[in-house]
Amino acid sequence: MISSYKTLNRVLVAGTAIAIALLYLFPLFARTTNNPSYYLQIVSVALCSAILTISLNICMGYGGLMSLMHTGLQMMGGYAVAILTLNHHWNGWLALVMAIVVGAVFAVLVILLSLRATYLYFGMITLAVNLIAMEAIRQGGSFTGGYNGLIGVMAPGITTTMMTPQAFYVFLLTILIGVYVIQRNLVFSGFGRNTMALRESPETATALGISPNVHRVKIFAVSGALAGLAGGLLSMQLGYAMSEIGDLGSGLIFFVGLFLGGISTLAGPIIGVAVVATIAFLIRGTAQYNTLVLGGLLLLCMVVLPRGVVGMYRYSRFGSPHVREFDQAEIDSFQLDISVKDVVKNQILLESHDLAKHFGGIHAVDGVSIVFRSGEVHGIIGPNGSGKSTLISCLTGYYPLTAGSVEILGNPAPKKPFLISRLGVTRVFQIPHLFERESVLDNVLTGMYRRDRYSIFDAIFRTPRYRKANARSTEEARALLALAGLLNQQDLTAGSISHGQKRLLEVVRAVATQPKILILDEPATGLRQDELDVLKGLISRLAKEGMSVVLIEHNVDFLMNLADIVTVIESGKVIAEGTPMEVQKNEKVLDAYLGRTDFSKELA
Ligand code: ADP
Ligand code: MG
Repeated sequence: MISSYKTLNRVLVAGTAIAIALLYLFPLFARTTNNPSYYLQIVSVALCSAILTISLNICMGYGGLMSLMHTGLQMMGGYAVAILTLNHHWNGWLALVMAIVVGAVFAVLVILLSLRATYLYFGMITLAVNLIAMEAIRQGGSFTGGYNGLIGVMAPGITTTMMTPQAFYVFLLTILIGVYVIQRNLVFSGFGRNTMALRESPETATALGISPNVHRVKIFAVSGALAGLAGGLLSMQLGYAMSEIGDLGSGLIFFVGLFLGGISTLAGPIIGVAVVATIAFLIRGTAQYNTLVLGGLLLLCMVVLPRGVVGMYRYSRFGSPHVREFDQAEIDSFQLDISVKDVVKNQILLESHDLAKHFGGIHAVDGVSIVFRSGEVHGIIGPNGSGKSTLISCLTGYYPLTAGSVEILGNPAPKKPFLISRLGVTRVFQIPHLFERESVLDNVLTGMYRRDRYSIFDAIFRTPRYRKANARSTEEARALLALAGLLNQQDLTAGSISHGQKRLLEVVRAVATQPKILILDEPATGLRQDELDVLKGLISRLAKEGMSVVLIEHNVDFLMNLADIVTVIESGKVIAEGTPMEVQKNEKVLDAYLGRTDFSKELA
């Protein structure tokens, strides 16, 4: 079985190599036809389209940001080149760099203005911006050439003033390969993991310390830069810049290509554009049906192939990842330091004073003062609906407080969840919140990127700084997975592992952020006995290493065995607090909650 996957992989690699070689040789084939420049032009334009589709894939596919302004960004990149070279006689290379800058800056401006907008609204804003940008270009007078556009743009030259169409084709192909590598390097990096984390669950991403806004701006900047580049190149290829290039209708090839090839896959945009461009070429005799055919193709693709060609392969038996067996020696060789830095024993790490949270008439949390200390397992119990989860959401910045205050490490808590997480407070939600489409290993690594401290550029160019940080994080993530017994599953998607494994993975991912306070909301629900033992071992070890572990738990046996101190909550109020022994003997607790079980017997 495994060997057939390997064979298939080899075939794919060889096929890709042959395809690239044939593409590089295409100008020679074109020469044997009756109209070489025509064929060269068609493929060159498709190469530009593929670059733009990759840019769209980065923001829409990986980033989950719906953009209807990428044709507009392309147009602006084109005008940057046209205006600078024709009106201001800039060198073509410099103008191309400016096209990238214009794309990035414009994208950043738009997203800064619409950070509060949610998915659909953001899409509508980009649509509006696109329309306005096109109209502005048309009304730009001699600066933009108005409705006629600017004609006479040339490809830059290396030794001559202008490259030959053949040389420019080779240049475009090389740039496309470069852009593909940029996409790949970004996706397989901390930056890419954060991007996908935000797409899958902003709530969880912020719990891991990721700033949603800063990150969205970065994704859009990268995507805008590539769109500007695609536009600059296209204007050089076509020889003009025209407002129609910004028209969303002419962007059909990008959207159809992206979805047909497979959105949020690496090769999808290129394969999709290749197919769409080929179809458009084959039906060129009936160009009036072009839109109809592409529209039909998009519809067909949505219905029968929603993940696209590459996506279908990824999810198939051949493309999906497998369990990888590690041998014990390798597992034993992992080095793992999870000791909590900069805290002393029994230090107060977090405290709340008279904290209250009301939802309309419901007093979900009603004046809770609680203290979490280092090196302690702090249990919280209480009936369903008593306000435990709400309390955690208040402590971690997810809900604004109705009254009271929270202090973290002696200072007032910041208001945003990601800032609280960065201070060392990491929560695990009651309902599983994994990045289900990412691998088990990537889930853990997502919690680590923030301390890796490499930039987007380090990731793109795979600098030594990136390599070092990545190797260290991967090693540490594997060690953490080994601790939870999940190492062999590292390559599987998080969505495909068992419920118990998912819960353990979430705990491990939270530990990867190196918290001082780890808050677990009912982590033991649905775990098998062996999984419960792993979780128990992990929690005790973390507390021993100096962490403050807050454990909300329904499984009273599990909790009482682990906790150093237990707080009992009922109807949003603390009704008892003390050692497990004390709490179990407390009359109020016996009445309100534990009364259902006879604990004196159980403990005996
Ligand atoms: P627990 O975690 O102890 O089971 P919760 O904190 O989830 O309890 O809920 C406490 C109370 O607050 C419940 O009555 C619940 O219905 C209510 N509640 C929780 N979240 C919200 C919300 N977002 N809006 C309105 N009511 C809520
Ligand atoms: Mg709850």
